[in-house]
Amino acid sequence: MPGETELVPGALTLGQDDPVALLPGVGAARAEAYARLGVATVGDLLRLAPRRFEDRRSPGTAATLPGEGEATWVGRILSSRVVRARPGLCVVEMAGVDETGEVRARWWNQAWLARSLTPGVTVVLHGRLQRVAGRAEFASPAVERLPEDPDTAHPGIGRLVPVHPATTGVSPAGIRRAVWAALARVRGLEDPLPEAFRAAEGLPTLSEAVRRMHFPIALKDAEQARRRFAFDELLVHELLLARRRAQRRRREGFAFRFTPTLDRRIRSRFPFRLTAAQDRVVAEVRADLARATPMNRLLQGDVGSGKTLVAAYACLAAVANGAQAAFMAPTEVLARQHEATMTRILAGSQVRVTGLYGGLRGKARAEAAGRVAAGEVDLVVGTHAVLSKHVEFARLALVVVDEQHKFGVRQRRELVTKGPAPHCLVMTATPIPRTLAMVVYGDLDVSILDGPPPGRGPRETWVVRPSEGARVVARVKAELAAGHQVFVVYPLVEESDKAALRDATAGRDAWERALPGRRVGLVHGKMRPEARNEALDAFRRREVDLLVATVVIEVGIDVPNATVLVVEHAERFGLSQLHQLRGRVGRGRSGGLCVLMDRSKGGTPERLAVLEATDDGFLIAEEDLRLRGAGDLFGTRQHGSPGFTAALLPEDLPLLARARAVARELVERDLALADPAWGGLAARVRSREAAAGDPSAGG
Ligand code: ADP
Ligand code: MG
Repeated sequence: MPGETELVPGALTLGQDDPVALLPGVGAARAEAYARLGVATVGDLLRLAPRRFEDRRSPGTAATLPGEGEATWVGRILSSRVVRARPGLCVVEMAGVDETGEVRARWWNQAWLARSLTPGVTVVLHGRLQRVAGRAEFASPAVERLPEDPDTAHPGIGRLVPVHPATTGVSPAGIRRAVWAALARVRGLEDPLPEAFRAAEGLPTLSEAVRRMHFPIALKDAEQARRRFAFDELLVHELLLARRRAQRRRREGFAFRFTPTLDRRIRSRFPFRLTAAQDRVVAEVRADLARATPMNRLLQGDVGSGKTLVAAYACLAAVANGAQAAFMAPTEVLARQHEATMTRILAGSQVRVTGLYGGLRGKARAEAAGRVAAGEVDLVVGTHAVLSKHVEFARLALVVVDEQHKFGVRQRRELVTKGPAPHCLVMTATPIPRTLAMVVYGDLDVSILDGPPPGRGPRETWVVRPSEGARVVARVKAELAAGHQVFVVYPLVEESDKAALRDATAGRDAWERALPGRRVGLVHGKMRPEARNEALDAFRRREVDLLVATVVIEVGIDVPNATVLVVEHAERFGLSQLHQLRGRVGRGRSGGLCVLMDRSKGGTPERLAVLEATDDGFLIAEEDLRLRGAGDLFGTRQHGSPGFTAALLPEDLPLLARARAVARELVERDLALADPAWGGLAARVRSREAAAGDPSAGG
């Protein structure tokens, strides 16, 4: 094992902060590929957890290899060739030999491999073995060149061999050799955890862990070591969140005054009585707003649960307190809908509402921005345009962000810097599974709006195949005859935008033919915003019976008279997205129907059945997590990407809970993280803060 006792003679000594490019076999050329794995420094590389291990502890010989199954063999290459089996299929064939006999291997469509299979070279093969005419033959095994001298210890043989997550430009074998080289060269690995703390937590030391994670004697050693790194990672993450939270709490904001009269006045403007759930959440929000400590609250509520009224309550409270409020939505369509709602609620009052949209240019924008800056506007509703540096507020005290998952953490923070310390309410209808909310939204307080508003009919979901089209058309006709409206949605796959548009256009024509005398509309992402708004407005005004749309309607559109939603190519959507879409119908008394048209070639994907079975957005999110893994939920921009390399979620949640408790306690005692005992961790927290653009990055 490298690094344990000997320092390779003449080899460079490296520190954990040295760039990974200094390692032999990496160099500047591969550094970029490593960066894609989240590895910039030697320390990062040492923290990169293997995905799995191959048991290459006891290689067989031609004579002793098992009949079939997973096996390892070491020997010399006799010959290799590329066979073009037929157009589009080429096979690389290799014959090898050891003292006891011959072994063969084949690879399919990996012609480039042949170049490295030079006769005479010693290699290790590891993979699935089969018998072809009695002879041992590997099918697409991992192949790795070994040094001439069989006594030299090598990372790829005679041990449990780690397989790290690889990417274009770096193979698992390459990463393995780099890790091996790093272990031999790194000196002065400083444990970021204080010794006493580490021992009390029962975690292995850093230098133990670093070796065991990559080259364990037994698999359980590797797991124990991985947990050690996972804990470090989670602790850094939690410290970052705990510091943000503590710093925010120290800032002085605007404490709103609430009186029973104000509460009555606000409620009297609403078209409905608040539901019990809305009442509860409003009370939570009100308690936050009444304190000078800025609110930082996430409102999770399933589609159609009535989040807008909660937002409206907060906005009206801000305005009544003489402050400005900003209400931001991810799309213009949705922002305009909110502007209309707010304008309706505030009709006949003195409150001045202004919309700010990307489309606004030149004089119009300067004029609107001028009024906001002069304090002549009380409530600003808009899109990203609200974040523009041209927009300054006179006395911003509340920021509401709808569909927060569509915005980055950074954008949210940008908005918050537009006032001295505004209260912040972010809302989402894409529930993060409860199990993960803790990681993603660790610095937010969470309110949950459960249960739909009253007066809703039941909602059904059908998963159908194209052969059942007639049943769908019949139902659509019946709903239209009853005076209701229908949405038909086509998936918008980003790369093939044009195809989606073609599909949607063809769909419109087909529905027109199927529904003589009915008015069929089309709205898609390629339309200019004005045209798109007009198409949606026409639908709202009931001048259109059936609206064919690409997913521009996904977020927030509220047309209670629409009772059927047909999702074309439902197999192409994620579960949570389908659930969002489904929220467009069933908002009125007559209930609704969501038709998931499954045009997949094979059988219906199992996940679509989940939507037939449940209407609970949280359950669906949990299922999505189970089916797709946490990776997708940390989709880069979405949540500020914690970029864990060792931690596994949701498996490591207990570890995360522990890390959170430790982080909160530590920050409470030592917000600046000045205690030298924790210096190693503090440095990592600061560099993460700097990378995330935290204003607090300095300390
Ligand atoms: P979402 O949480 O998806 O943003 P909305 O705020 O758009 O939901 O509300 C969904 C629908 O429910 C809207 O048509 C809204 O007018 C209606 N609604 C909201 N609150 C109530 C209530 N307390 N009573 C009756 N209907 C309500
Ligand atoms: Mg909404």
